[in-house]
Amino acid sequence: MYELARRTNAATTVVQVDDVTIGEGFVVIAGPCAIEDEMQIESAARGVAQHGAGLLRGGAFKPRTSPYSFQGLGERGVELIAAASRRTGLPAVVEALAVEQLPILAEQVAMIQIGARNMQNFALIQAAARTGRPLLLKRGPAATLDELLFAAEYALLEGNPNVVLCERGVRGFDPHTRNLLDLAGALRLKELTHLPVIVDPSHATGRRSLIAPLVAAAAACGLDGAMVEVHPEPARAKSDAEQALDLEAFAELMMRLASVREPKIVATACR
Ligand code: PEP
Ligand code: MN
Repeated sequence: MYELARRTNAATTVVQVDDVTIGEGFVVIAGPCAIEDEMQIESAARGVAQHGAGLLRGGAFKPRTSPYSFQGLGERGVELIAAASRRTGLPAVVEALAVEQLPILAEQVAMIQIGARNMQNFALIQAAARTGRPLLLKRGPAATLDELLFAAEYALLEGNPNVVLCERGVRGFDPHTRNLLDLAGALRLKELTHLPVIVDPSHATGRRSLIAPLVAAAAACGLDGAMVEVHPEPARAKSDAEQALDLEAFAELMMRLASVREPKIVATACR
C-alpha cells in the first residue's frame, strides 16, 4: 500500500511553488498548450496574470501523438517561459518528457510536470523528484486511482513531499469529448490522499465551451485547483487549438469562479 501518499488525518498538504501555495484555496494554472514564440508566451503570461492565474503553464517538450505534429521549441521554449515568468511573477510549470530535460527545467522553472503518458515512467518520476522541484503529476488516461497514488509514492519516497495530482480525463467511448473528466475520481482521491488534487478540463474535454463550467464545478466540490489552456490567438495555436481559451474567455472563467467561491445566496420569499 502507498504509505506516504495515504491520508491519515483531515489536513491537505500545502505545496509551495515559489510564493504560491497549492492545497489551500483554489489555484488556477493557465497558459498555452505549447510555447510557440516570445510574443505568444509573453502575451499569454501577461493576460492570465492580470486575470488572477496563480501559475503559468506552457509546454516546451510536447508529447504529441503524431511525430509529424509540432514538438515544441525545446530548450528555447524553457528560456522563453522562464523570462515570461520573471516578468509577470507567476511561477512556471513545464512538462519533462525525459530525464535529460530535467537539469534545465530544474534550473529555469518553478514546477516540473509529469504528463499523463509518463505517469508510470517511474525512473523519470524519481529523477524529477530528486531535483527538489515541486511536481505536478497527471493521471494516465487509463490509470486507476491506486496506480496514480503509487506513482506519487515513487516521488515521495525520494524525499520530495511536494507533489500535486491532476485528473485530466480518462479514456471514454464517446467522441464528443476528448476524454471523460473523472470528477468523482478526483473527489475520491481527496479521501485517499493528503496531496492536493486539481483537474485539467482542457485535456479532459478538448472543447473550449465546457472548460469554464467544469472549473467552476471543481471549485464548488472542494478540489484544490484547475489547469486550463489559454492562447492569445486560439485560431493560430500550433497544438490543441479547439480547447484553447482566448484571454477574454479566461477573464470570464475567472469571474465565474469568483462567484462560485463567494456565492451570493439569494433568499426568495415563499408564500
Ligand atoms: C499538457 O498538459 O501539456 C499535456 C500534454 O497533458 P496530458 O499529459 O494530460 O495529456
Ligand atoms: Mn495541450
